Formats: sequence, C-alpha cells, structure tokens
Amino acid sequence: MPAGESFYITTPIFYVNDVPHIGHAYTEVASDVLARWHRQRGDDTWLLTGTDEHGQKILRTATSHDVTPKEWADKLVEESWIPLLETVNIRNDDFIRTTDARHETGVQLFLQKLYDDGLIYQGEFEGFYCVGCEEYKQASDLVDGTGPFEGQQVCAIHSKPVELLKESNYFFRMSDFEQPLLDLYESQPDFIQPESVRNEIVQFVKQGLRDLSISRASFDWGIKVPWDDKHVVYVWFDALLNYVTAVGYGVDDENFDRRWPATHIVGKDIARFHAVIWPAMLMAAGLPVPKHVFGHGWLLVGGEKMSKSKLTGIAPQQITETFGVDAFRYYFMRAITFGQDGNFSWEDISARYQAELANGFGNLASRIIAMITRYFDGTVPVIGDLTEADLAIRETELRVTADADAAIDRFAINEAVSTVWELVDALNGYITEQEPWVLAKNEATRDRLATVLGTALRGLGTLTVLLSPFIPDAAHKLWESIGQGELTSQNIDRAAEWSAAPAVVPLPSTLFPRIEQPEVATA
Ligand SMILES: [Zn+2]
Repeated sequence: MPAGESFYITTPIFYVNDVPHIGHAYTEVASDVLARWHRQRGDDTWLLTGTDEHGQKILRTATSHDVTPKEWADKLVEESWIPLLETVNIRNDDFIRTTDARHETGVQLFLQKLYDDGLIYQGEFEGFYCVGCEEYKQASDLVDGTGPFEGQQVCAIHSKPVELLKESNYFFRMSDFEQPLLDLYESQPDFIQPESVRNEIVQFVKQGLRDLSISRASFDWGIKVPWDDKHVVYVWFDALLNYVTAVGYGVDDENFDRRWPATHIVGKDIARFHAVIWPAMLMAAGLPVPKHVFGHGWLLVGGEKMSKSKLTGIAPQQITETFGVDAFRYYFMRAITFGQDGNFSWEDISARYQAELANGFGNLASRIIAMITRYFDGTVPVIGDLTEADLAIRETELRVTADADAAIDRFAINEAVSTVWELVDALNGYITEQEPWVLAKNEATRDRLATVLGTALRGLGTLTVLLSPFIPDAAHKLWESIGQGELTSQNIDRAAEWSAAPAVVPLPSTLFPRIEQPEVATA
C-alpha cells in the first residue's frame, strides 16, 4: 500500500444511452490526470469510473431495439464506454456498472438502513417529469416550447414536453438536511468548487429543500426497494451510491475506510445532485461526506454546449486519430480553464499542437538528445562549474515542480500545465543563448559544452516526470531514451531528483510528428 494519504477520485458514471463525445472524454482525462499526479506523488490513489444503466429512458430505448435493457447496456458498455477509456488512455482502477451485483447489494443495504431509521416514508407524489432528465421538474425548470411544442411547457435542458405523473412513492426526508448542508458549505468552504458553482448551490439550498421522491412503481428497470418489490429505486439515488458501493460499502469495511471519502469530478450541470442530494444521503446514513465536489465547465463547439442531439457532438476518435491521444489530453487540459466553459476548435488544437507540442517540446527533446549523441557519443555529460544561466534552469525546475503540485491540489489543472510549460520555454531559451553547437567547435570549451548539455538534459528529465500525467505516451517514450527505472515511480513532487540513465539513447521517432492539415478541420 502506498505510504501517502488516500486519494479516491471519481468521474460521474455515464448514462449508457448516450454515445461518448469529447465532453465525456474531457471529464475522464481531467480525473485521470489528477489521479496520475497523486499516484506519482505516492498517495494511496484510486480512480473510479463506470456506467449508469437503470431508468425508464434505457428501458424505452432497449424495447425499441427489441432487446432487454441489460442486453442494451452490455452492448453500449462493450462497444462505446470501455473503448472510450482506451481512446484517451485512462488508467482507472475500477469500473462500476449499476447493474453489478455488488452495487445492487450495497444500494439495498443503504436503503434499508435509512428506512429502518425512519428517514424514508411512503407518500403521494404528483409532478412534471422529464424522461430525458429522469427527474421531476419544478415550475422554474420549465420554459415555453417552440416549433412542434409551441404552447406547451418543456424541459429547459431537453426542449421536450414533460409528463404530468402521479404516483405513490417512497420519499427521503431530505428537508431534514437543509440546515446540516448549509452548515457543511459554511464549515468546509472548499467542499463545492469552483466558487461560481458553490454560490449557485448555496442559494438553491437556502430557498428550502423538499423531501425527495426516491422510488418508481410505473416501470421495473431498476433496483428493487428491499421491503416493497413493486418499487424500483429512483435512478439518481441508485447512481450516486456507486461511489460507496464500489469501495465496499456495507460488505468490506476495511476497504471502505481506506478509500472513503472521495473527491468527485462532475460537470457543473450535475453538481447539484452531488453537492445537495448526495451529502444529505450520506449524512442520513451516518457516513462522512465527500472531500470535494468539483463542477467543471462545458465544452462548447461554435459557442454551443455539445450534445449528440444538437449535432455538435464530436467523437473523441475524430481528434485522436488526427493528433494522437497525448495531444488530445494535453489540449483539453491546457486550453480550457478547469471549472469554466471552454470552446473547442480544430484551428486551436491544430495551432497548439504545432507550436507547443511539436516545436516547443518535441523539438527540444530531440535536439538535446541528438547533441548529446553527437558530441558525447550518448554518454551523459558531466556538469562542471555553474553559471547564473545554469542555476536559473535549476531554480526553474524546482519552482515549477512546487507550483504545479500546488495547482493540482487546487484542481487548477490548466495552471499546472502552463506552469510546467515555463520550463519548456526556459530550456528552449537556454539552448538558444548558450549555443552548444558553437561550444562544440572548440576543444577549449569542451567542459562548458558538457555543463550546458548536462544542465539541459537534467531539465528535460524533470520535464518528462512532470508531463507524464498529461502526455503519458510521449513521456514514456522520452523516458526510455534518458531515464532509469520506471517513469511512474519517479516522485512527481520531487521531479528534479530524477535518475538519468548512464547514456542517452536516440529517440525511436519524433514525439509529435508534423501533421498534414486534417480534413475534419472544416467541422
Ligand atoms: Zn429534461
């Protein structure tokens, strides 16, 4: 077991009915970068992702395809959701499906406990239900329909009419937790991040919480309520519990205590479920609340939120096939402020690929390795007396390591990348100024040449360690040429202490090859 503290991080579990687009991949990559960073810092890290497979919408889609809902879910998990993780190189430790037996057991245990403790009661419910959202809507969540739905009230998110439903349901006494939640937000100001999402949620809870209907009797694709099998558990209540059932809630206390509480990375549109309903559920069960709920922004394409239905959905493969997986990961982590909306464009990724990855970083790596190979037959040059310029590189290595590490703790992923990039720029500037190719012409400056290339190589190794969570494939390839041992066992918070191989080996190929203008660039 790693000596560091527990870092349990989760992505939302994705609704199998959707097809993965770059918005899903974005959440996965951000969570994966955080997990990789913590893992490489020695924290006891666990990255959970998975799929949400119950609910009326899935039942309807499956029925329309003449298959059972489980068959439909199996197909989507196998053909879309697991492949997504491979497409963007996610190193998750677990993948949970809400149809897993371990999950169903945990949900029933949890529900029974709340029922026994008097926190669940039976009542009558009537409301406007959006099948797309899988939730009842309040009047303020509805807007006037347009086009075919003119004259009707429609869901603001789906632009489709809602259904008026009346049913006998079980209710969770969420209203009991209004004050405890407000106290939580007050005493743990970083519980919800960023600030914009936090403010919205605090305002929402201050307006008052109603008890939450948590069962449905109108369809049966879900987990049965343990004391009344005519009811299945409401899909959100079911889904949220994945975060505890995956780490052994109710069945493996040792593992549960080791992992829980988690840090949840979610899109801001579902932050409310995670920062209101979920902690209320946990408090009701006497469990610790999550460490953090971070609601990231939306990816916009042409200024619009991406979605399959609005035809702005871009499959991650469209990007990775052109630019590669590392560039995908790098681009979204660098170009978009984590926590704010960000616009995707082919022009932007193309420009950054060329300027930052190919010219800035890739070229730097090949030049340093090529010069050491050429002037020293690959043997790592011995560093002699240091000038101010050499010391400045060393200081930059230490500073960016500390700053990037601190940025990761603040979920400022884009800031961590841009901080690390200061070292790329510093090394490029250093080589331009020191002109090792000039020093190489004169035997009298041989020692100075060794110090310059030795210093550049040290900086490059530090860079490789720091970039490995973001661009794991390129970092690994580069490490094979210059480093010793496993790249991922180099402590990232002490990146500058990396151990060099006795001799560098030429790179097998360019890290970020030149790309012909992609045809998809018209999108
Ligand atoms: Zn809706």
